[in-house]
Amino acid sequence: MDYLLTEEQEQLRRLVEEFVLGDVNPYYEKHGHEEFPWPLFRKLGELGLAAIPFPAEYGGGGLDYSTYIVALEELSRTGSRLGGALAVHGLPQLILNQFGTDEQKSKYLPPMARAELLGAFALTEPHAGSDAASINTRASRRGDKYILRGQKIWITHGGEADIYIVMAVTEKGKGAKGVSSFIVEKGAEGLAFGKRERPMGLPHHTREVFFEDCEIPRHNLIGREGEGFRVAMTALDSGRITVAATSLGLAQAAFDHALRYATERQAFGHPIADFQGIQFMLADMATSIEAARSVTRKAAYLRDRGLPFNAVASMAKLLATDTAMKVSTDAVQIYGGYGTSEDYPVQELFREAKIGQIVEGTNQIQRMIIARELLKKFKQ
Ligand SMILES: Cc1cc2nc3c(=O)[nH]c(=O)nc-3n(C[C@H](O)[C@H](O)[C@H](O)COP(=O)(O)OP(=O)(O)OC[C@H]3O[C@@H](n4cnc5c(N)ncnc54)[C@H](O)[C@@H]3O)c2cc1C
Repeated sequence: MDYLLTEEQEQLRRLVEEFVLGDVNPYYEKHGHEEFPWPLFRKLGELGLAAIPFPAEYGGGGLDYSTYIVALEELSRTGSRLGGALAVHGLPQLILNQFGTDEQKSKYLPPMARAELLGAFALTEPHAGSDAASINTRASRRGDKYILRGQKIWITHGGEADIYIVMAVTEKGKGAKGVSSFIVEKGAEGLAFGKRERPMGLPHHTREVFFEDCEIPRHNLIGREGEGFRVAMTALDSGRITVAATSLGLAQAAFDHALRYATERQAFGHPIADFQGIQFMLADMATSIEAARSVTRKAAYLRDRGLPFNAVASMAKLLATDTAMKVSTDAVQIYGGYGTSEDYPVQELFREAKIGQIVEGTNQIQRMIIARELLKKFKQ
């Protein structure tokens, strides 16, 4: 495994860096985070960044995951908002690529790669988060249609997205084996949205999504009935590497701010960076970022080679999001009172970091996945 970026990866990283400095930061400074950043999302498509690891045949970049996570980390170097949106947009693309029919792929993937259509992934319900196999949203066959009834919660891009991959129960009493996954297009009859939720860390655009006798064509089923849970979990295995990458970008941003501030802020007649207590914090922050980056790259490396990667992906998600939380907490500490002020950037990174420890399986769930893998051989 090579720790240096390839020439292609470095070129892509520079392209993303220019985009962040030239477009992303000025856009957020001017417009804030309240609305979904449509112009930035569309620009991702123009730059060829909206489908980096997906096949060129369907308009994607045809690059590997190792390259994708370099771009995601760079995109998150001033906060994980746009990187997070791109990673979530990637979940439906992953699913359609791996499990979709040729018709489904041809219809949805090219416009998603051009960022003309935005995707969302709808699994979580008010009473089923970590225990995702306990979802209640029902999908009943009626002739050549499915009728969906139920409610999802915390759906990133809810109300904004054009394409929703929705997990629903087609056979009650069978747990995970009774779940199927469907494509629901915005505008489908009976698809409705609740008010915007307000998770900490402003950039996250999430809403409740309601299915009120929502009718969709039968051919919007993905794979076969009963495969939906596997479809969702397979996507999340890969998705976790992207959460790790965006959290790494965020951690690096918090660290960069803290390092610079420590050399500028004076106390007792010295820059605070002269104090060993601050130096040790900076050293620990840099060390944990390096460690998390190595595991994240390893997860992508294994995935690119078709090797089992799900436990390492969980390790990467766990380590990178915990690192982002710790590093951003320490960054606030290094800024002292100013760290808590909205006039300075680190409190926002700190608030965003918390979300990473919860989404795509909480960090407790990541530990369960890792432990299951460790104990597997003793259970045969
Ligand atoms: C900003 C944001 C965006 C999101 N985007 C999406 C999205 O796009 N699509 C989507 O489907 N979902 C989304 N979610 C939902 C997210 O995936 C869930 O919140 C998450 O899976 C946890 O589920 P829960 O909130 O129901 O917590 P619960 O499952 O109720 O868990 C509560 C606590 O108990 C712990 N816990 C639960 N079970 C165990 C166990 N067996 N052992 C130890 N601890 C356990 C959890 O780790 C957690 O600390 C989003 C959430 C947020 C906050």
